[in-house]
Amino acid sequence: MSILRAKIVIVPLGEADLTLVNKIAAALGGVFNRGVDILKGMRIPQESFNETRNQYYARVILSKLERIKANQRETVVGICEQDLYLPNKHFVYGYSDNLGSTAVISLFHFRQEFYGLPEDDNKIYPRLYKEVIHQMANVYSIPSCSNPICVHFDSTEMMDIDNKNDRLCDICMRNLQQVKTL
Ligand SMILES: [Zn+2]
Repeated sequence: MSILRAKIVIVPLGEADLTLVNKIAAALGGVFNRGVDILKGMRIPQESFNETRNQYYARVILSKLERIKANQRETVVGICEQDLYLPNKHFVYGYSDNLGSTAVISLFHFRQEFYGLPEDDNKIYPRLYKEVIHQMANVYSIPSCSNPICVHFDSTEMMDIDNKNDRLCDICMRNLQQVKTL
């Protein structure tokens, strides 16, 4: 039984940019050799909002995403515009859970507007793409990579994301091939 025959389900959360959601959905299937569906969309769970921090708790969003899985072999990936956090971090670009096979990625920090710069679609999409691939690799339990130009390098700053490739390095690719043959 190949787990990679199970689908990837992309869920636009809240007001997530549908052009970017559609673009990432079209790109993902080929990388992971799986069918990709896009769901109609889901509201951001209100209980994930932390008023004090004015941010959204990524873990709560993942637990909501897990509930919409049609079967255990699906991977659900939410894309949102909101600023995400974990209790021990100021913010996160994305977060994933390999047991639940869920991931959520935020466009909040990827937008140039966040840095007081004019919007630039050519910057947002590569950032989103790299973060989605990184989080999907986490979902498949591929260990984070120490090679700073590998897409699976754990980027904590935007410069890290902009500087790394959009592909897995040879080691990560071999790890992914093992997942693909399961
Ligand atoms: Zn790597």
